[in-house]
Amino acid sequence: MERQHFEQEHTIFRDSFKAFLTREVIPFQTQWEHDGMVSREVWRKAGDAGYLVPFADPQYGGAGCRDFRYDQIISEELAYINEAGFMMPLHSTLCAPYIDTFGNEAQKQRWMPSLVSGERILAVAMTEPHAGSDLAGMRTQAIEQDDVWILNGSKTFISNGILADLVIVAAKTDPTNPHSMTLMVVEEGMPGFVRGQRLKKMGMHSQDTAELFFDNVRVPKTNILGVPGQGFYYLMQMLGRERLALACSAIAGAQAAWQTTREYVLERKAFGREIAKFQNTRFKMAEMKTEIDVGQVFVDRCVMDHNTGRLRDDIAAEAKLFTTELLGRVVDQCVQLHGGWGYMMEYPISKMYLNARIQRIFAGTSEIMKEIIGRANGLA
Ligand SMILES: Cc1cc2nc3c(=O)[nH]c(=O)nc-3n(C[C@H](O)[C@H](O)[C@H](O)COP(=O)(O)OP(=O)(O)OC[C@H]3O[C@@H](n4cnc5c(N)ncnc54)[C@H](O)[C@@H]3O)c2cc1C
Repeated sequence: MERQHFEQEHTIFRDSFKAFLTREVIPFQTQWEHDGMVSREVWRKAGDAGYLVPFADPQYGGAGCRDFRYDQIISEELAYINEAGFMMPLHSTLCAPYIDTFGNEAQKQRWMPSLVSGERILAVAMTEPHAGSDLAGMRTQAIEQDDVWILNGSKTFISNGILADLVIVAAKTDPTNPHSMTLMVVEEGMPGFVRGQRLKKMGMHSQDTAELFFDNVRVPKTNILGVPGQGFYYLMQMLGRERLALACSAIAGAQAAWQTTREYVLERKAFGREIAKFQNTRFKMAEMKTEIDVGQVFVDRCVMDHNTGRLRDDIAAEAKLFTTELLGRVVDQCVQLHGGWGYMMEYPISKMYLNARIQRIFAGTSEIMKEIIGRANGLA
């Protein structure tokens, strides 16, 4: 189906971003997987080319462009080339909005230009070894003392955890209230801020996911985002946007898996004919194509609703639930249609399969999405 929500300027942007990926990303993907992280250089190049934090105001070097269709294009193109480690969407679409929305003018002046240029990389640290879905159960805490907050605790599974220069950390700041959290920006080099090892994962091998430790880190009050104690509500406010970005990526990942499998089944022969000629193959491919096309229309509509401020959190949760579950079914079926070659890393489908598995877990598991949707429909 022809997608209707893009204008000519989006097509021009997509073409230029694709050219950037062809030049600056695709040739380095194998190396980055080997290194367990992408290079700092590619972040700077993306910044130089204007692809980071495009919504930032021109006074901070941004384009002042708050149209989520550009975020969608970036997520899609990264998914089409199967690049899960270069987390531009995490930096621009998920983390930078915390500074934009809750940061004060001095903080924006201090950080935004370097986030736009790619000189500084962002991460957000909510999850802890004992608390993921249940954020209110986190133990990391900060105690106010004169002009600083003393931060203690640890976080895990933090994307961009090794490369990040600024980490938006959620910490408990009132022991009597489990929902009283504060968001604070911890900067590279602050005494007591230590990074753990890069975590070994089943997929996303070019992504530097890590543990972070905070041992009496003295976080200046000037690094607090918004009002102390309101962090939980700030996180809740931003999670819808995060889930929409993931839905954009998941449905594009499903498209990419379907496309590479189409090429394979048209080529591969068994019993004297292309496997595409078996009715089972055609039917499976047709079923997947139908579901992907239907999902794409839903996601595109969500993007437009987000642009006009009408996207409800439960609908964003539906988009994340549907697309990531669909992606899981699609990559599994596509491996099946590749036969044994689908299990070999030389075929892109095997990497797609491994990268896809996390999408039903991070940014809120499928079960948590169902809770949100259920509650929004009066089922709690
Ligand atoms: C590669 C990777 C990158 C990540 N990046 C980040 C990051 O950048 N920043 C960050 O803060 N976090 C990050 N995470 C953490 C991620 O968001 C959490 O793993 C996720 O929210 C689930 O939390 P958990 O792992 O503690 O699982 P748990 O919360 O322990 O859940 C375990 C199981 O119990 C189920 N469950 C839990 N509660 C309920 C319930 N109420 N009803 C029904 N079932 C329930 C879950 O659905 C799941 O199936 C990342 C994780 C990974 C693996």
